[in-house]
Amino acid sequence: DYALYYAKAHSRGAAVLFTEEHERLLRTQSVIEQALRHADLVQELSLVFQPIVDIRCGRTVAFEALARWTNPELGAVSPAVFVPIAERSGLITRITAVLFAQAIAAAKAWPDRVALSFNLSMADIASPQAAAGIVAAVRTSGLESGRVILEVTETALIQDVAQAQTTLEALKASGIAIALDDFGTGYSSLSYVHRLPLDKLKIDRSFISEVTTDPASRDIVTSIVALARNLNLDCVVEGIETADQARLLQSLGCVLMQGYHFHRPMGFSDTLRYLDAEVVRTVPPVQAVA
Ligand code: C2E
Ligand code: MG
Ligand code: MG
Ligand code: MG
Repeated sequence: DYALYYAKAHSRGAAVLFTEEHERLLRTQSVIEQALRHADLVQELSLVFQPIVDIRCGRTVAFEALARWTNPELGAVSPAVFVPIAERSGLITRITAVLFAQAIAAAKAWPDRVALSFNLSMADIASPQAAAGIVAAVRTSGLESGRVILEVTETALIQDVAQAQTTLEALKASGIAIALDDFGTGYSSLSYVHRLPLDKLKIDRSFISEVTTDPASRDIVTSIVALARNLNLDCVVEGIETADQARLLQSLGCVLMQGYHFHRPMGFSDTLRYLDAEVVRTVPPVQAVA
């Protein structure tokens, strides 16, 4: 299992890897890179979708699209593994284009009230043409740009703040919303957060997993919620796995939530069934005639 092996080796840190193990890891990376390079991307890449729920009304306001890659030789490879490799090897922009087309097609089948939240990589926003390509893809699809949210990470942004700022401003001018993903895990200065044209902060799930048990995590989450409020940004909390976590975040004033507690990522056809069932659930019960 390449994915698992890579993750295990990776988490131990390069400094403590045995040479033999390190070599195997490099081989694994190049195996994945070669497979990606020769993959039939349209055939092998797909998306699953995870609801982002507004707990005030209990309804799904967006789905986050999450990439899945199933290769004939390697089997399923996690995006946590193949996205960084695709970024390093320059393959990510092609992958993004294939996935974005799939994501837009899915979003067009959802009701207008449901937005699409899509993850971008650093390379996707790093070129002067980046914004134009994304805006064109949305425009030709006919999907209303106000229904598109693009998620970017802090590490992606600080590589080239000036270019990121230009790209994000162009995206925003076209009506697309920007979310800063995995917030709190990067190394960026808070001043970037202030300077960039953001709409949402997504609190990383590493803080949420301990939020009910670890006072430090709770303090960090409380500060991020306050920061979002002061900067007039929506706060999205990812990785909610329990009702206790949802309640605690609600008490801190969070309303947009995502995580296994609400729903796991699902295939496209399941999103349609899920939205139908949601509508049925929210229709008030018919009163019996006395
Ligand atoms: P992310 O954007 O922060 O996505 C959230 C990850 O957390 C997803 O993992 C999701 O399945 C997982 N997750 C959601 N709720 C829970 C929960 O309650 N508990 C736990 N333990 N996990 C939860 P996934 O799908 O494996 O994606 C991993 C990362 O890969 C993403 O993190 C994102 O950075 C990247 N990625 C995924 N799809 C794409 C894509 O299309 N393009 C790019 N550039 N990156 C992508
Ligand atoms: Mg994301
Ligand atoms: Mg995230
Ligand atoms: Mg994350």
